[in-house]
Amino acid sequence: MFKEKTMLEINNIKKHYGSFLALNNISLKLKEKELVVLLGPNGAGKSTLFSIITGLARADEGECFINGNNTVSQSIKALKNLGVVFQQPTIDLELTVKENLLFHARLHGLKISNLYKTIKKELEKNGLEKKINNKVRILSGGERRKVELIRSLLHNPKMLLLDEPTVGLDPASRVDLLNKILFLKASKGLSVLWTTHLVDEAEKADKIIILNKGRIKAMGNKSKILGLAKERTLEKSFLKIVTEN
Ligand code: ADP
Ligand code: MG
Repeated sequence: MFKEKTMLEINNIKKHYGSFLALNNISLKLKEKELVVLLGPNGAGKSTLFSIITGLARADEGECFINGNNTVSQSIKALKNLGVVFQQPTIDLELTVKENLLFHARLHGLKISNLYKTIKKELEKNGLEKKINNKVRILSGGERRKVELIRSLLHNPKMLLLDEPTVGLDPASRVDLLNKILFLKASKGLSVLWTTHLVDEAEKADKIIILNKGRIKAMGNKSKILGLAKERTLEKSFLKIVTEN
């Protein structure tokens, strides 16, 4: 039988800030071509988990593997397979769209001869071709996010992490971004870990992980979550699960 590859494996991660336990024994797996939504209220520990996966922070205990590579002892190999859109925008407002993308490509040592063509094509797909020489400062929030998404995919990663990517976006841009991710998953086989506190963004996930106060409270596809909570909607299930101690 065909066995799907595990793209991300997290085993028993614990993380303290001083005496505060921000992540308590987190284990999860994300397979190839899977969209996993990590759903949790503010302060649940979503960004902390992201900083551990990306190597920005060290876990106190536990291990993390990206495409089989340990994120601490094989960090370069592990990060090669990863694209990231952080919660806080990390795009230079004073550089143009083109400059931001080319700078990032060079930073990653990308030596693609037709890099400029690739960037133009990606901008066209996102309706941003006319903004190529505009400073990012004059772009809307939705447009900036799209540029960040294009940037995160320039090195063709196998897995994409998005930390609350829709915060601050209007409803249309929110739907647009989620649809883009679903398209990339279907067309390129990308694996995606998407965090949010907005339940509707989890509706189309292959797997939903509910995180609260540093603990995984529930994990599974939508029908499993509804079954666990004995509710009819994801919204009600989420509320019930996070309000249980
Ligand atoms: P989320 O992204 O789900 O909103 P975070 O991972 O940002 O949650 O934060 C989880 C908890 O850890 C929160 O209670 C937050 O206040 C705390 N926290 C986050 N970063 C730090 C830090 N650098 N020092 C101390 N506490 C922190
Ligand atoms: Mg966060």
